[in-house]
Amino acid sequence: MLDRPAKIEGPDEAPATFTGNRALDQEEPLLFEIGRLDATGVDVDAAPQVEKRLGGLERKEAIGLPGLTEPETMRHYVRLSRKNYSIDAGLYPLGSCTMKHNPRINEKVARFEGFADAHPLAPQSTVPGALELMETLAHWLMTLTGMHAVALSPKAGAHGELCGMMAIKSAIAAKGEGASRNVVLIPQSAHGTNPATAALLGFSVRVVPAAEDGTVCAQAVREALGPEVAAIMLTNPNTCGLFEREIVEIAQAVHDAGAYFYCDGANFNAIAGVARPADFGVDAMHINLHKTFSTPHGGGGPGAGPVVLSERLAPFAPVPFLRRDGERLEIVEHAEGTESFGRMTAFHGQMGMFVRALAYMLAHGGDGVAQASKDAVLSANYVRASLRDVMTQPFGDRACMHEVLFDDAWLKGRGVSTLDFAKAMIDEGYHPMTMYFPLVVHGAMLIEPTESESKASLDLFIATLRNLAQAAKEGDAKRFTQAPRYAPRKRVDETLAARKPVLRWSAA
Ligand SMILES: *Cc1c(COP(=O)(O)O)cnc(C)c1O
Repeated sequence: MLDRPAKIEGPDEAPATFTGNRALDQEEPLLFEIGRLDATGVDVDAAPQVEKRLGGLERKEAIGLPGLTEPETMRHYVRLSRKNYSIDAGLYPLGSCTMKHNPRINEKVARFEGFADAHPLAPQSTVPGALELMETLAHWLMTLTGMHAVALSPKAGAHGELCGMMAIKSAIAAKGEGASRNVVLIPQSAHGTNPATAALLGFSVRVVPAAEDGTVCAQAVREALGPEVAAIMLTNPNTCGLFEREIVEIAQAVHDAGAYFYCDGANFNAIAGVARPADFGVDAMHINLHKTFSTPHGGGGPGAGPVVLSERLAPFAPVPFLRRDGERLEIVEHAEGTESFGRMTAFHGQMGMFVRALAYMLAHGGDGVAQASKDAVLSANYVRASLRDVMTQPFGDRACMHEVLFDDAWLKGRGVSTLDFAKAMIDEGYHPMTMYFPLVVHGAMLIEPTESESKASLDLFIATLRNLAQAAKEGDAKRFTQAPRYAPRKRVDETLAARKPVLRWSAA
């Protein structure tokens, strides 16, 4: 175990600087505050006078955009980017989100002109390579999951849920049961997008309680089933980082009741290459390429949520889809004459993410994908085993999958909350773990180290958390309740920020 380095003098003791900057941590106002309305960074000729054709609706005042020079603009964004924490800067243990390293080979391949410059409206005959890449990716996704078909176009996990549930809704309607099957079963521990998806499609949600051990038991599902149930939405491994041991029995019960099994595949990175969702009895499952297959995500950047489908749901998949006719590969753009539920999005999906995900798969190979899953599980269990004597686990001392869940029972009476603990991690240079999710666990701390971290990196992380845990137990509450002390904005009032967000800049 590593010792914590010698204590560094903190900002409380350090004198204030004249600029407000702290060396590389530089203050940065808004663009509107540094820009000047009368300035511009480019030198263009005055626009020619043209006849007004907007019938008096043209703008009468200045547009009010801040003018900056190119170097001013560069500095603004570079300074902001330095305030960001990223997987390229350090360990990012955000459970459920799977912040794994995005291998640079992915980036190199994604920048190949044929992929990067392909236009979504280019005639199909001019982009056969892009189509073949999509077909190869589809083949990998179907092989890894054992499923029959895949819809590539959904653009995130939540969008994939919508896609899979729309296919299920269409299949139910095609059987003439659209009016009678209007309930979706969702376990207590589910990610919020699951009930949101069901509700958006007009289903009502029936909650399946979690068993003592944090999983869903088949008996509880059987009790919740009935002729009004359309589907179950179940995550496996679940959001507590546990494998649903009764999954096959649950699928059987759901099918016996005439309902469908939607699997939330966000945690596929724990089992890819090791177990196939088709063998659990899954009818539809989204795969977050930006989690399992390492494509970059966060900050609202692009994700991709392809949905694998069973044979009976495949006919209802959205357009566009790929069809191979001998040598010829084509994209079917229109739903007419098919059972497809229609189109979810313009164009064909997130091409850049497809390229990165396939690069990751091909670089790893099937055995490498399986190894990554096993290493992710090993990393999480290493963290678990190294912390279980100082932190508490909600469901007893048992092995986890790719993420380890602690609760706040061990913090009781110490004046330190899960939130305070997470804030103190920021001072130590770590992005906090996922907090207060899943909701079934009090003060949840969900840690997902991923397979990307070396043993040395995990050891330093573990030593840091042990040191923090020790400080909390010894009553050093100040280190937590005032944290983060070293971040640019220190502790902010998050409730105020959430309730009264300031979304508009106005000149004072
Ligand atoms: C991330 C996640 C989702 C949603 O995926 P997005 O790509 O963020 O839309 C759904 N369910 C679980 C369990 C997740 O972890």
